[in-house]
Amino acid sequence: MSEAAPIPELCAEPERAEELSARLEAVRKRLRAAAETAGRDVPELIVVTKNFPPSDAAALARLGVRQMGENRDQEARAKADLLRAGGGEQPQWHFIGQLQTNKAKSVVTYASVVHSVDRAPLVTALDKAMGRALQEGTRSGLPETLGCLVQVSLDAPSASGEAPPHRGGASGEEEIEELAQRIADAEHLSLMGVMAVAPLGADPHQAFGQLAEIHGKLVKAYPGAAWISAGMSQDLEAAVLQGATHVRIGSDVLGPRTSVR
Ligand SMILES: *Cc1c(COP(=O)(O)O)cnc(C)c1O
Repeated sequence: MSEAAPIPELCAEPERAEELSARLEAVRKRLRAAAETAGRDVPELIVVTKNFPPSDAAALARLGVRQMGENRDQEARAKADLLRAGGGEQPQWHFIGQLQTNKAKSVVTYASVVHSVDRAPLVTALDKAMGRALQEGTRSGLPETLGCLVQVSLDAPSASGEAPPHRGGASGEEEIEELAQRIADAEHLSLMGVMAVAPLGADPHQAFGQLAEIHGKLVKAYPGAAWISAGMSQDLEAAVLQGATHVRIGSDVLGPRTSVR
């Protein structure tokens, strides 16, 4: 086997790699402390690399990060393809953003899990895309089923009476249950659990408490749906306290996102 030539886009400056290492360690420490306070297992860390270059993702992979999150298909796919070309241990990619049905075909070529399943047509599109990818061999090295989480829309504070900013997701027991059922019934999808973003201005403890309650009901019907994907840089501790099994951390590992999108 010949050594592949290093890909310039995957080479981070040594100072940047050191910075990422220090920030990553600080976040891992916070996670361990939060888990200890909560008396829970340390949740899985998904590092959200959106808006940061492939070289950062490659540096994080070398630092042992095995779970990475992205929220836009084009950027995610380019990064995943580059890292694959670079060889070595590959991260699992978690798709965490609003997803158009016409992007399903692309997403299944690199994603192991989609956290943002928020409507029935997306379930259909993902299942169909998975079927085709398996047939055409465009999913090599990835799990034979696509992990899916029901994205739940949590109540925003409504003291002002204004409509809360919509952050996506299914709401109401019936809608959530129906989506879960569709995922569970789909041939090439696996129902992994629920995901949510705390509404702006909401108390994250209350929001994630609500998510835990929703999850508790769901997991009775679907014992395999064990994941609670909750918690970002700002509200990691609250999420862990409320039972998050997977946290999605971007800026506290990579720094502030400056590029416009
Ligand atoms: C960007 C993003 C994150 C990470 O947010 P940070 O505040 O940078 O930690 C987590 N979840 C979703 C859905 C995101 O879009």
